[in-house]
Amino acid sequence: MILGGKIEAVTFDVGGTLIEPFPSVGHVYSQVAARHGVHVAPEVLNTRFAAAWKSRKNFGHSISDWSGLVDATFAGLVDPMPSQTFFHELFTEFTKPTAWRIFDDVIPCLERLQDRKVRLAVISNWDERLRPLLHALNLARFFEATIVSIELGAPKPDPQIFVTAAQQLHLEPSQILHIGDSLNEDVNCARAAGFAAMLIAREKPPAENEQLSSLLQLCG
Ligand SMILES: [Mg+2]
Repeated sequence: MILGGKIEAVTFDVGGTLIEPFPSVGHVYSQVAARHGVHVAPEVLNTRFAAAWKSRKNFGHSISDWSGLVDATFAGLVDPMPSQTFFHELFTEFTKPTAWRIFDDVIPCLERLQDRKVRLAVISNWDERLRPLLHALNLARFFEATIVSIELGAPKPDPQIFVTAAQQLHLEPSQILHIGDSLNEDVNCARAAGFAAMLIAREKPPAENEQLSSLLQLCG
C-alpha cells in the first residue's frame, strides 16, 4: 500500500507522467515542417530534439525558449530558421489534444484516487498552453489546483513551485505525494520541499520501493 498514512493529496507532473507527444515530438515537427516544404523524417527530428533538449540552458518554458529549441532542432536543415517561418504554427500545434496521448494508466488511476477522496493537483514546468490543453484532454476535471512554472517564474527543480502547491492546497508538504518522471525535476526537488515523492518509470522494471512502473500501483 503506497497511499495512506498522512497523505491527503497527490500532485502529478504532466509531460512524460500524464501525457506524451503523439505520435512523437518528431512526428509533429515533421508534419508542420512538411506543410512549409521542409521534409525531414520524424526519427531524425526526434534524435535532434533529444540532443537540443539535453543541452538546453536556463530553459524557462517561455515562447522565446521554445523558439530557440526548435531552431536548434532544425539547425543546418533549413534556412531561414523555423523562428522566422513555421515556429508559431508548431507552437500552436501542441495546444491541440491530437498532438498528445494520455498514458493508459492515467484515467483509471485518477478515477480511483478521486473515489477514495484523495485530493489531486498538477505541478508542471509548462506555459500558458497547459490549462487549455488539460481542459481539451478532459483531464482538468480531476485537479483542484494546477501550478504552472511560467506563472511563478520558477520552474522545477526550484522547490518554490512545491511550496506554492502546498499553500494552494492548504496542506503541509508532508501530507502531499508528488509523482513525476524526472528524478531531478520531480522526485529530488519535491523531497527537498518536504513532499513525499515517487518516480514513474513505465519503461523500466521496478527498481526500488519508491519507483512505479504504472500509476495503478498507487491505488493498490
Ligand atoms: Mg515530466
